[in-house]
Amino acid sequence: MLNIAIDGPAGAGKSTIAKLLAKKYDITYLDTGAMYRGAAYHCILNGVSPNDTNGVERLLPNLDMDVVYEDGVQRVFVSKKDVTPYLRSLDMSIAASDVSKIPSVRVKLVEIQREIAYKRDCVLDGRDIGSYVLPEASIKFYLTAREKTRARRRYLEFLEKNVETTEEKVLRDMQARDKQDTTRDFAPLKVMPDAIVIDSTDLTIEDVIEIMSERIDAVISC
Ligand code: C5P
Repeated sequence: MLNIAIDGPAGAGKSTIAKLLAKKYDITYLDTGAMYRGAAYHCILNGVSPNDTNGVERLLPNLDMDVVYEDGVQRVFVSKKDVTPYLRSLDMSIAASDVSKIPSVRVKLVEIQREIAYKRDCVLDGRDIGSYVLPEASIKFYLTAREKTRARRRYLEFLEKNVETTEEKVLRDMQARDKQDTTRDFAPLKVMPDAIVIDSTDLTIEDVIEIMSERIDAVISC
């Protein structure tokens, strides 16, 4: 089984790269962040703050999440409804980070992630793929970039989608999220000793794909 793990902070380009790798190697792309976003959506819809650990834990048994692939594109269903279009907002990003601190939430979502990864070749992006979800992954990457560059990239993405925000706000939210993601007690974002670290600050998407492909090809040919 081929499992490619890509971890790293917000805005490093993980999802763009993971999608392209999935296409290139004809494997599944599992966007684990979308699942935490889906869990946060479920909380908000039910009037529970993603920061309210007791409230979220009470709600958790009712969280019915399905990850479905339609024409190779991942869709997240919550209570049988496709919530994918509602997950990428700035507010949902921080809500996902809040809910992802709660260990029981992670345990539930990681179970679904492993179930998918054990059955098919895939590239997964997230924060804890190499450290916790799949410590035996075929290959692990840690993709990062300078903070200001990451914020700028995210800001441009929002602009493209006509979302009103400022670069300063995107930077502030990103800093808050990265801090929370790296300092939480359970499965925090960290660089694993066996991960290949790539700083994409001065690299194009094609550069990153080329660097990663070389390493992946070496693993496949072993
Ligand atoms: O990757 P994305 O920005 O969609 O992730 C949203 C949030 O979900 C992250 O800030 C992080 O708190 C959480 N997350 C996580 N573990 C993962 C993927 C995402 O904790 N494997």
